[in-house]
Amino acid sequence: MRLGALEAGGTKMICSVGNEQGEILVRERFDTLSPDETMPGMIEFFQKQQVEKLGIGCFGPLDLNPASPDFGSITTTPKLSWRNYPIYQAFKEALSIPVSIDTDVNVAVLAEQRLGAAQGKKNCLYLTVGTGIGGGVMIDGQLVHGLMHPEAGHFPLCVIEDDPMPKGCCPYHQTAGCAEGLASGTAMRKRWGVPAETLPLEHQAWQMEAGYLAQLCVTATALFSPEIIVLGGGVMQKEGLIELVRGKLADYLGGYWQHPVLQHPEQYLVLPGLGNNAGATGALLLAMEAK
Ligand code: ZN
Repeated sequence: MRLGALEAGGTKMICSVGNEQGEILVRERFDTLSPDETMPGMIEFFQKQQVEKLGIGCFGPLDLNPASPDFGSITTTPKLSWRNYPIYQAFKEALSIPVSIDTDVNVAVLAEQRLGAAQGKKNCLYLTVGTGIGGGVMIDGQLVHGLMHPEAGHFPLCVIEDDPMPKGCCPYHQTAGCAEGLASGTAMRKRWGVPAETLPLEHQAWQMEAGYLAQLCVTATALFSPEIIVLGGGVMQKEGLIELVRGKLADYLGGYWQHPVLQHPEQYLVLPGLGNNAGATGALLLAMEAK
């Protein structure tokens, strides 16, 4: 069966075609302009590729309430032309095939759990640290949606001493800085005046970043009790950052948790096993389940 996968992001849309083994056969990128400009090309791509089912991992927030008339719509995104856009419905109507949709990070945690770094774990998290911060959550083998869906990027964090931007840069969370406002790539660029990847690992920026990410992981540990946390996204590609985060984990765990896995942060905090393919692979897995 030919399966379609869409990684819908705020900057780019990656359309892929793959098979039931999760292998990606064809891939095409579209810039994320307005729906009117971006949707027709993607629809044509999937039609030409004759996909029989489509899985969508989409930037959010999304309406994922199955009982909602707006199921599968993008809701309060700052990308105004996509606000309230019914992306799921639009593909379903245009392609007339089964379509399934979830958040980009839930799709990534699904892929990592089935085929990547979190195989064999029923309780796991995928945190992406890039332009923004997001988190996908799997509990007891099921993706978590709940009232809406997890928004791990907007956890409030304790401000680290000497942070020159203590309220962060999230426009929604200025009372207490949130993870995205304090530790996303956008936050790093605003705080230090240069893109994060240009800062050397010795710069204090990375110690601070590692502190915030370790806090985020400990908060997630306290709330969800995951067996493993996968840390992906562009900022995490900085060589040496994952080691800094692991190094700070114990400080924030504070000796309270004594599980052996937490004594080995290299087993607990890991980079994605699927690298940059987690999104596309997860969307393929989602497509298989589309009805
Ligand atoms: Zn926020």
